[in-house]
Amino acid sequence: MARQAYVNGRYVPQSDAMVHVEDRGYQFADGVYEVVPVVRGTLVDEDPHLDRLERSLAELRIAMPMSRAALKLVSHELMRRNRLSNGFLYMQVTRGVAPRDHKFPKAATPALVMTTRQTKPHSAQQLAEGVAVITLPDIRWKRCDIKSVSLLPNVLGKQAAVEAGAFEAWMVAEDGRVTEGTSTNAWIVTEDNKLVTREAGDAILNGITRTALLRLVEHEGIAFEERAFTVEEALQAREAFITSSTNFVMPVTRIDDKPVGNGHPGLLTLRLREVYEGHAAGAGAP
Ligand code: PMP
Repeated sequence: MARQAYVNGRYVPQSDAMVHVEDRGYQFADGVYEVVPVVRGTLVDEDPHLDRLERSLAELRIAMPMSRAALKLVSHELMRRNRLSNGFLYMQVTRGVAPRDHKFPKAATPALVMTTRQTKPHSAQQLAEGVAVITLPDIRWKRCDIKSVSLLPNVLGKQAAVEAGAFEAWMVAEDGRVTEGTSTNAWIVTEDNKLVTREAGDAILNGITRTALLRLVEHEGIAFEERAFTVEEALQAREAFITSSTNFVMPVTRIDDKPVGNGHPGLLTLRLREVYEGHAAGAGAP
């Protein structure tokens, strides 16, 4: 059967899945989303993703489209219909449909869309060689903690990376410190062997992978610091990597065309990837 999508109360073939032209997500990017990884048919960190969805919605004063229990039922039903084993679930909630006008509509029902995508395992070559990142000015707004569908700077950044032959772009604040990747969080292992990632706050999206990995790292007794780092520090680092729901832990071996450390994926990075994979597979969660 053709892949299905869930759109405002109905399961429909994805090719026929449509939203209204006056959906505020379409007209104003007035909405939020989540991407939840699926490993062997199970949603990874489902509740933390739903916590973040609730938080993003609350920050924008959009109501939850249905209860958390109902959201879980719909997600699981869509995964079942699509026989999803490995990949991800995408959910998007917007403020709803209303005549175009910037201010909040008096009565709009939040619109909910869910889709799934089956994905192949991460590229063996990328894991063996690591990926390249470029750096770019962070031109985003001051509430990057909200997982808003307003992603133009991220889209432009990723496109610039691809055009430069890189995998990701790290965005750099005016003070010279890295905020995060266009769809990933940024990490380094410093010269003196400290694991460092930027602290959660308004300047980054607090990744669910980032949070899970920090918990795992603590459990493993590995020292870490939550603080911002500069591009120069990253270039002096022994290791670098990125995290996200779609990439898990991905080694970074080049920054702006210069090698990180010895130019190969770092040992700690590879260990953390294994630890995270164990967590994602449902084993070894602390
Ligand atoms: N930062 C940004 C800007 C992102 O879009 C994402 C992915 N949604 C992340 C970080 C990583 O977040 P997560 O680990 O929850 O996928």
